[in-house]
Amino acid sequence: MGRIYNFSAGPAVLPEAVLREAAEEMLDYRGTGMSVMEMSHRSKAFEEIIADAEKTLRELMNIPDHYKVLFLQGGASQQFAMIPMNLMKNRVADYIHTGQWTKRAIAEAKMYGKVNVIASSEDKTFSYIPEVKNLKISDDADYIYICHNNTIYGTKYNALPEVGDKLLVADMSSDILSEPVDVSKYGVIFAGVQKNIGPAGVVVVIIREDLITEDVLPGTPTMLRYKIHADNDSLYNTPPAYGIYICGKVFKWIQNIGGLAAMKKINEEKASILYDYLDSNNMFKGTVVKKDRSLMNIPFVTGSEELDAKFVKEAKALGFENLKGHRTVGGMRASIYNAMPIEGVEALVDFMKKFERENR
Ligand code: PMP
Repeated sequence: MGRIYNFSAGPAVLPEAVLREAAEEMLDYRGTGMSVMEMSHRSKAFEEIIADAEKTLRELMNIPDHYKVLFLQGGASQQFAMIPMNLMKNRVADYIHTGQWTKRAIAEAKMYGKVNVIASSEDKTFSYIPEVKNLKISDDADYIYICHNNTIYGTKYNALPEVGDKLLVADMSSDILSEPVDVSKYGVIFAGVQKNIGPAGVVVVIIREDLITEDVLPGTPTMLRYKIHADNDSLYNTPPAYGIYICGKVFKWIQNIGGLAAMKKINEEKASILYDYLDSNNMFKGTVVKKDRSLMNIPFVTGSEELDAKFVKEAKALGFENLKGHRTVGGMRASIYNAMPIEGVEALVDFMKKFERENR
């Protein structure tokens, strides 16, 4: 069986060229006589792999020199704890609540201090991004926290909250590298890589250097301190070495496409194929207000649970995988990350048109 179109929200589709290259290097990585999986993380070959991955990511995102790049473990979920443990000096933080992943982040932060939810879109099932101008930011807040792209609900920030000289922390798990961002606007950016970058098991953290200190909450385990990882260039303990190697290849793949500006253009083109259809047909409907639509995760419904299930089933039979919406939302969701080819989105829309004709 050949490759199918995988619309999974994560772990997700990876560039075929990267998978082929990794396959070629599987048994003998560039004359070392071993796979990267079998290699010491202290070897020269691996040191080059991780240094090169960081260098390419820095180039892609134009990361200023006073930011550290870390390759960590524990999933994005572990950052929900590391952020407060390392940054909550006053034990107060402001969170903008936009879905399941901020819910988890808020619950975690509450273990360490006071959490003010300064804006929320819960009133309309997280189908929009709250107004971020003139927010009531708490004077004593250590940071303001957002989830930049909401994987489950399919919303994204098109303007950042005005936080003045306060720290902005962003979970970019589901849209990192999908378009250019101004890293200097953030104190911390983090992302689990299993959507837009690589295999599950690696978390990229981009953190301003002055935030990396010994001054963490009492009881913070060594492994959850940014400083230990920063001081050791992500090699304090054994890192998720094979994952980092694949991440490096994906960074190069994006660079070869032309970087993040080119990636954004492609992503806009892909998303508009699906959104244009959703806006013009009589069966499927997008669930997000237009101005806050994600380029990466596109939820839609028919209005009938029965028809939704029929659609998902028939789509699967034709090789369109993982279109079922998140279990908390229902309906359908097409995740069209960087590595989803435009042909995949075109083929999906063709199938949706056919399904519409057949089920009118
Ligand atoms: N944040 C966002 C935006 C996510 O989409 C996810 C996972 N889908 C997470 C956090 C949690 O990531 P992990 O499973 O790596 O802990």
